[in-house]
Amino acid sequence: MSRMVVVGGGIGGLAAAALLGRAGHEVTLLEANPWLGGKSRRIELNGQRMDTGPSLLTFPSVWEELLRRWDAACRQPGEAAEVAGLRLKRLPEVGWYYYRGERTSLPVEEGHPWRAAWERFAGIHGGLGVEVTRLLTADPADPRTLPALGRLLRVYGAKLTTRSYLDGLSWLPEGLREIIAVHTLNAGVAPTRTPALFASMPAIMAADGVFVPEGGVYEVVLSLERLARRAGVEIKTGEAVLEIGRERVVTAEGEYQAERVVSDLDAGRLESLLDPGRKRAKERLSCSGVAVYATLREELPAGVAVHSVVLPSDPCDLYESLEAGEEPRETMAFLNYYRGGRIYPNEGGTLAVLLTAPANGREYDLEDPFVGREIERVSAAAGLQEPATRYFGEYEVLDPAYFGAWGGAGGALYGNVRPFWRSGPLQRPPYSDRRRPWLWRVGASVHPGGGIPAVLGGAMISTGRMLRSLV
Ligand SMILES: Cc1cc2nc3c(=O)[nH]c(=O)nc-3n(C[C@H](O)[C@H](O)[C@H](O)COP(=O)(O)OP(=O)(O)OC[C@H]3O[C@@H](n4cnc5c(N)ncnc54)[C@H](O)[C@@H]3O)c2cc1C
Repeated sequence: MSRMVVVGGGIGGLAAAALLGRAGHEVTLLEANPWLGGKSRRIELNGQRMDTGPSLLTFPSVWEELLRRWDAACRQPGEAAEVAGLRLKRLPEVGWYYYRGERTSLPVEEGHPWRAAWERFAGIHGGLGVEVTRLLTADPADPRTLPALGRLLRVYGAKLTTRSYLDGLSWLPEGLREIIAVHTLNAGVAPTRTPALFASMPAIMAADGVFVPEGGVYEVVLSLERLARRAGVEIKTGEAVLEIGRERVVTAEGEYQAERVVSDLDAGRLESLLDPGRKRAKERLSCSGVAVYATLREELPAGVAVHSVVLPSDPCDLYESLEAGEEPRETMAFLNYYRGGRIYPNEGGTLAVLLTAPANGREYDLEDPFVGREIERVSAAAGLQEPATRYFGEYEVLDPAYFGAWGGAGGALYGNVRPFWRSGPLQRPPYSDRRRPWLWRVGASVHPGGGIPAVLGGAMISTGRMLRSLV
């Protein structure tokens, strides 16, 4: 049995702690904030529940694989599902998309002019969920990943990035192509920065489903916490790590000795704790967001979708602005509208408006010109006669300054921008390196791809490698 400290109680840190504790190690998890979950958090406004950060769970088989591994450590099939108690609800569609006056759902509905092209696209990509799940959860060094990799490479051929692959599909209508391409912002970067694999995601999501846990997405964090506690993990919130050295972790409360340290922190933040004095070169950052969470004084008019995605009229301009760290003229926005009693056990409706924004570390409020302008634009696109703010009761704005206070520089949600070929087995930073064999990394900025499945998968791969190294 080894003594281990997990630094950071986001989804990645909690998953790693649960797996390591279940494997029989003595694990302490240290979280700086008073809440667990990091970017995934539960707030209350006007007595109504709202979960901030992620809203959808995709690739549910990644979650099932995590439960399987937790069970396997003690040969107790079924125990993890019982302890976690997560019940997923499949949504009828991935969402409704609005682009230059066009409106479509994914999957594209029958009768829509893009339907035939979508069916052709979905026929090529919709069945790749098994392969992608394999790559998300299996160690890249495991030769059993090769058949999955081979099948995917046959689909993309010589087109290596999402942009070049999609641009090669001349039969795909331009609007549908941009709607598919914009999903790469889920990894915080432009389609020229992600591997071709990202083009498949919308079709896989449409085929395999998108889910929200009953009660809201924060139930994922609560389930992971239960798994970690059942595995004997000691969890401390409100205890920030100030320094990480060889086999020791320092907080204001004292010093923890550890044979292994697992970091769930943004990679840059971890570097500053390992080597506080060192000056770092400025790097390009993935996107941040301005997220507005509001209770509603009355329900929105009938016809407003549960999940809407509004694109900018010029996506290239958005990608360029994000890379330059500047506010775009128009951005990509998600609107999540839950009527009272739907998803959350609330009496009234709630609306989350998530605006993709540069990682500029700034504070924003509803009066800010960028926020006011974009809420007006996306409200009209999603079918509202007036700006959504007119319906707002109590609200809270989370901005790049909020995300940057304990996450990536400037509030970058997925760390630094990397070349597309650093998204797979050649990722940087790696899970561990020879210089510091006692240190292991998990979390969104280490496992590119963004999102809960990538973070859970990365935690499984990283802890799996570490456990094998201990034998
Ligand atoms: C607005 C928004 C919408 C999103 N939508 C989706 C979605 O719909 N679906 C999806 O799958 N994903 C979505 N994501 C992405 C998803 O939320 C993240 O990928 C995931 O939550 C990241 O988890 P993590 O553990 O890597 O990092 P984090 O959540 O950032 O966790 C890192 C933790 O480390 C802690 N920490 C930092 N410094 C210290 C220190 N010195 N000492 C101790 N602790 C420290 C932090 O407080 C934090 O709790 C969204 C994210 C955002 C922000």
